[in-house]
Amino acid sequence: MPQSLFQRTLVLLKPDAIQRGLMGTIISRFESAGLKTVGMKLVWVDKEFSKKHYSAHVDKKFYIGLEEFITSGPVLAMAIEGIHAVDVVRKLVGPTEPKEATPGTIRGDFAHHSYDYADKKNIAIKNLIHASGNKEDAEKEIALWFDEKEMHTYKTVHEMHVF
Ligand code: ATP
Ligand code: MG
Repeated sequence: MPQSLFQRTLVLLKPDAIQRGLMGTIISRFESAGLKTVGMKLVWVDKEFSKKHYSAHVDKKFYIGLEEFITSGPVLAMAIEGIHAVDVVRKLVGPTEPKEATPGTIRGDFAHHSYDYADKKNIAIKNLIHASGNKEDAEKEIALWFDEKEMHTYKTVHEMHVF
């Protein structure tokens, strides 16, 4: 298999997903698509770590609210592997604004927050999930969140039927 098409991506179930009891429901979306979980842990991040993870956003107006949100409770960090995993996971998750996310996507099915509402209240948009935006970010983010020894290698049935 062309190695560049076989990718790993970072998914975070944000504090709203954990506190709403949606972990199992969301994880099952990725499992149903045949994607493979190769790393998983609950982490309560501090402000310093938030600035590392969201380094692209620290100077933006919404960053204060985003930091408050992401440090407000534990997040479930997952390293997910599969063919075109970065794009496939973004597709399953849906666009950033739940109001615009179509039914069938995780954000469209389980959230309805809008930019307008978030910006008026000076809070982060509550959209349940973070998913790496591209392959380069995915590699950096997995290295930031996981030690090598926390990543696991094993075979799934999909490796017999798809790959
Ligand atoms: P993520 O990086 O969390 O996967 P994303 O790539 O869809 O989400 P980004 O543009 O990277 O979106 O923004 C990071 C996060 O910051 C969003 O998921 C959302 O929670 C929050 N956010 C982004 N833009 C705004 C905004 N204008 N107002 C409030 N919160 C925002
Ligand atoms: Mg992003």
